Amino acid sequence: MSATRLRDTPGEVDLRSRLRSMGYRGRTEVKVLGRRRADIVFARAKVAVFVDGCFWHGCPTHGTWPKANAMWWRAKILGNRKRDRNTNRVLRKDGWIVLRFWEHSKMDRAAIAVAKVVDRRLRAKNLAR
Ligand SMILES: [Zn+2]
Repeated sequence: MSATRLRDTPGEVDLRSRLRSMGYRGRTEVKVLGRRRADIVFARAKVAVFVDGCFWHGCPTHGTWPKANAMWWRAKILGNRKRDRNTNRVLRKDGWIVLRFWEHSKMDRAAIAVAKVVDRRLRAKNLAR
């Protein structure tokens, strides 16, 4: 397993294609903060979407804590979560709306939630989609 962020996980692909079919074309894998990337970015609306993997980000429902090298894994997963919180904080400070979904989320609902936020944001900024 690689320690780098997985790209194009099934959840991301699912969410992106649902959004696209609704007419929302976010850019993907955009660097928003140094080397950190958001999974789907709506730049004009300033909405950054993340789909967090259940294992790497320690999902409360499906996150597993490996027994072998338990300390290392614990530090790794807690480190990821800490970085997620920091990413949220820094982006929000910079005027972004950050939306995070678990990989296990129902992506049909997630797509609707993203669309609503993007629309509201564009309206507030007086921009057309
Ligand atoms: Zn999960």
